[in-house]
Amino acid sequence: MYNEKMFQLGSKRSVIRELFEYGKKRAQEVGADKVYDFSLGNPNVPAPNAVKLAIEELINEPDSTALHGYTSAQGDLTTRTVVADYINERFNVGITPDGIYMTVGAAASLCITLRALNEGNNEFIAFAPFFPEYTVFTESMGGKLNVVPFNEKDFAPDLEAFEEAITANTKGVIVNSPNNPSGVVYDKDTIIAICDILKKKSAEYNTHIFLIADEPYRELVFTDVEVPYLMNYYDDVVVCYSYSKVLSLPGERIGYIAVNPKAYDERRLYAAICGAGRALGYVCAPSMFQKVVTKCIRESANIEAYRKNRDLIYNSLTEMGYQCVRPDGAFYLFLKTLDEDANAFCDVAKTYGLLIVPGDDFGAKGYARISYCVSYDMIKRSLPAFKELYLRYAK
Ligand code: PLP
Repeated sequence: MYNEKMFQLGSKRSVIRELFEYGKKRAQEVGADKVYDFSLGNPNVPAPNAVKLAIEELINEPDSTALHGYTSAQGDLTTRTVVADYINERFNVGITPDGIYMTVGAAASLCITLRALNEGNNEFIAFAPFFPEYTVFTESMGGKLNVVPFNEKDFAPDLEAFEEAITANTKGVIVNSPNNPSGVVYDKDTIIAICDILKKKSAEYNTHIFLIADEPYRELVFTDVEVPYLMNYYDDVVVCYSYSKVLSLPGERIGYIAVNPKAYDERRLYAAICGAGRALGYVCAPSMFQKVVTKCIRESANIEAYRKNRDLIYNSLTEMGYQCVRPDGAFYLFLKTLDEDANAFCDVAKTYGLLIVPGDDFGAKGYARISYCVSYDMIKRSLPAFKELYLRYAK
């Protein structure tokens, strides 16, 4: 009677959402101060003041029909011009406003891009550990997601396995750096190696395999590590960007797609992106937040707060004896669980009030994700619970 696949997606929450709901219920039972909720990637740092000022300015403009009306499907030309100019200023890729398509965040950017690329049953590749929604997005756009394992030392992709995973039917590879859930930034050598393999395989199969850069965390970096801009290394690139994290605006739904001017048959690809946005019923990205982006293109939330959180949680947990790779960006830490079964470990953690997410859905058994976009104070208060949890397994 109803679409079975959609029914399943809608009736079973993701593990992350399940934990988040549990946390709210548990806080009512035992008190919020005894629940340490590290489940969601919802920024706790407020949006920069410039966003508030921009909104105030916009709502005081006399013509509210322009503010609240539809924009062009691909986005307001002024916004796309500001976005393209800013990308060129930083990465010098010669993109024009005609290569920018405004979206309702990275999730939409990814769905539109996957839909535009997929000619029917194409395969896409993600590097583990990966954002679990990639499976949902790829499959609902008619494709199949293949997952490439990682090296435990640094969470970089296993490049041999990557090469083997590419088939004549592979259409795209999703690269997410800084990474959710590991916080790792793929270095230049890794990106060059990925691109070399793709060039070789594209030539071997006489095709174009696309890199899809999923970049909601691009600006959330705590050291001077470079986050390579993929268009500077490879031609067939689509960037899926979002302001959810950098401007702390996840509920407002605003982001963009940027198509590399050097991509194969770039005009046709851009048209397919417009077509996919239309077919998916997106109509246009929110008009007011396109204008906010135009005014706040150089702004960012206080990333220093995340760095402080990273230092506290990483230093404290490793001192206790936990193992994890030091994250350089985003606001996640991927912990090696003390039980091989991460689900069992996270269930035990729950009894200490610690809500952390098992890594299985991220394509990494034996790990758990900690989202540290929470208050510094909550991290501090949670440390004795982490210690007790560690000692329970150390016995
Ligand atoms: N990609 C990754 C890796 C994410 O972590 C998220 C959200 O957490 C998204 C995409 C979706 O972000 P948005 O809010 O921009 O749709």
